[in-house]
This record gives sequence, C-alpha cells and structure tokens, in this order.
Amino acid sequence: MAATDRATAFLTIDVDAIVANWRRIRIEVGPKVEAAAVVKADCYGLGGARIVPALAAAGCRTFFVATIDEGIAIRKVVPEGVILVLGGPLDGAAADMTEHRLTPVLNSPEQIALWAGHAQTLSRPLDAALHLDTGMSRLGLDTPTVACLAADPSLLSGITPTLVMSHMACADELGHPKNPEQLATFTALSQQLGLNARLSLGASSTIFLGAGYHFDLVRPGAALYGLNPLPGQPNPMTSAVRLEAKILQVRDVDTPMTVGYGASHRVSARGRIAVAAVGYADGLFRSASNRGFGLIGGKRVPVVGRISMDLTTFDVSALPPDAVQPGALIQLIGHGQSADELAGQAQTIGYEILTALGRRYLRNYEGGAC
Ligand SMILES: *Cc1c(COP(=O)(O)O)cnc(C)c1O
Repeated sequence: MAATDRATAFLTIDVDAIVANWRRIRIEVGPKVEAAAVVKADCYGLGGARIVPALAAAGCRTFFVATIDEGIAIRKVVPEGVILVLGGPLDGAAADMTEHRLTPVLNSPEQIALWAGHAQTLSRPLDAALHLDTGMSRLGLDTPTVACLAADPSLLSGITPTLVMSHMACADELGHPKNPEQLATFTALSQQLGLNARLSLGASSTIFLGAGYHFDLVRPGAALYGLNPLPGQPNPMTSAVRLEAKILQVRDVDTPMTVGYGASHRVSARGRIAVAAVGYADGLFRSASNRGFGLIGGKRVPVVGRISMDLTTFDVSALPPDAVQPGALIQLIGHGQSADELAGQAQTIGYEILTALGRRYLRNYEGGAC
C-alpha cells in the first residue's frame, strides 16, 4: 500500500493561494512600496522549501527569517534576493551570516558593534537593517541608543544601513491609541537617525491600518498564509491550508458512558462517536477539548472529551450513519472553518495553530512554481 493510501491525516497547502495573497498585499500597498515576505518558522509551519521559490518566482525579492539557520535553509532555495535575519547576530555568528549572504537586523548596541567589527575584519562595508523599538520592549534599539547613533555616526562605520524598521504591538486592533503613538515615534526616531535607508513598519495587520503606515517596505507574514489580518472583520486573504483526518472507528454510546481521558464528557443520550486520527501531537491543541469542531461533508461536529496525543473524538449523532464511516474524512481547517476559527476554539491565535502543525501529516502542495 502506498504511503498516500495508508496515511490517516492530511495537510494540503495551496501555494498558489499564498502567492495570490502576496500579490494582494502588493496591490494594497501600491507600486512604490516593496512587499517583502516573512518566511520565518519555515513559512509559519507550511514549508519554506516549496513556498519561498514560488514567492521568488512571483517577484518577491526580500525575505525575513528569525534565525541564521532558517536563513541558510532559505538561501538554498533562493540564490538571489535579500534574506534578513530578525534575531541578528550573537558573538561568533557574523561570519556564518556573510558566508550565506544573510543580512542581519541589528537590534542592540552590541549587535551593531559586532557587525561593525566584522566589516572591519573583512575590510568591506556590510549591509544591515536597524530595528528601532517604538513601544514593544522586545527587540530593537531604544531611544537613548538612537540618540547616541545620531550623535556619533562613527558607531556605524563599516555598516551600510539598508533598512530602518520597527514593529507594532497592537496593529490588529484598529483604533488602538498605541498605533498612532508608535507611528509618531518611528517617524521621529528614523528622522533623528537621518540615515539614507529605506523604512519599514508594517507587518500583516499594520498594512491594513492605511498608507501612512506603509513607508518603503512592508513585512507580511500571517496574511500570506491566509490568516485574517483584520480580526473581527471579513478576511481579505485567501485560505491556504486544508487539514483533514480519517475516522478510524465509529461507536455507539449511551448514558451513563463517558468519553476520553478524565471522563470529561458524559454522554447524555444515545448517540455515536467518531474517533479521528489526529491529536495534540499533530498540533490539534488540547485546549480545544470539548470546545472545538470538525466538519464532515460540510456539517459541523463537536469535539467531545479530551483531545489525546493521536486521537480526537467527535459527536456525530446528528449525521446519518452512512455519512460517518471508518476511512471518511473529518476536516479541521479549510472551507467552512478557518485556522483563525479553530484557534478561537482552542483559545489561541491562528499563528500558533499554523506553527504548531505536526510533522506526521501527509503533506500535499497544490500549485507553485515547482
Ligand atoms: C513575525 C514578524 C513579522 C510578520 O508578522 P505578521 O503579523 O505575521 O505579518 C514582521 N516583522 C517582524 C519584526 C516580525 O517579528
């Protein structure tokens, strides 16, 4: 039996939809603004080796990753193009970055000094992005450091700053007062620096705050993979993921039976339970126990009982018995239930659902350049 036939859980990734989402962002920001792609965490768990070449073929030139190893992996599939490493270099890592033509995002005075020292060692100028903290207290240069750099440009000697960027804390909340505050801080700090570099503020949700937030380059991640950058509003992006699992067994239940570990679901009437081959080891969050839903033939069926490592139990009493047989598919993500909706059921965000998708699905890529 072929692996495709014996597989019991399937992850289908629509590469064309991801490319279409990138094009949609490009239209949103217009021709004067570059649309980069954030491809960290292996394209949010969906597979950089297949997705990044398709984005490059569509014209994407700039890619953001989190770590140097992610950058090395992406460099293997995009020989051209700029790859920026959001985490920047720590001691000893600068040579790996230049070897693989990775551009660091410099987040601290230490990283600036390290990169300047590396440029001196190589006796050539090195590109870098500078990340300003404008209100997240996460990565980025703080306001006093920006003042130091403005006062003493020699701190950047050997460094060619190609991009000055910052990141927004509350962009998914339209009308949050922090949004215009961070915009004003970014504008002021980047002017104070006075570098001849392009500017970037926007990730997925920020892009939809309006043209004033676009600057020269935008950095969408989630929106490319079909997550909704506008929570609470219709999703302007196209869904790119379908997640399905086969039913292994269907059983009759009645009172006073219970379902699953901890007996957390008590059967209240005669009915049927379908046991599907998907569990928390596959990234179906245990927090969706007794809260999540699947779809069988487009009909919603609730998760009952606790999600276990490899199995999830659904109440299928409302469906005709012949529609629910071993081998039939239950859909967890796809048409009728987005990753964002599943995330809501699991009390998390779509980002965590995608990046937690397990390794034992049979993965199938639709479309794409190769
Ligand atoms: C992850 C990340 C992005 C992409 O964010 P999305 O919300 O997924 O679009 C952009 N910029 C930085 C600095 C990031 O860490």
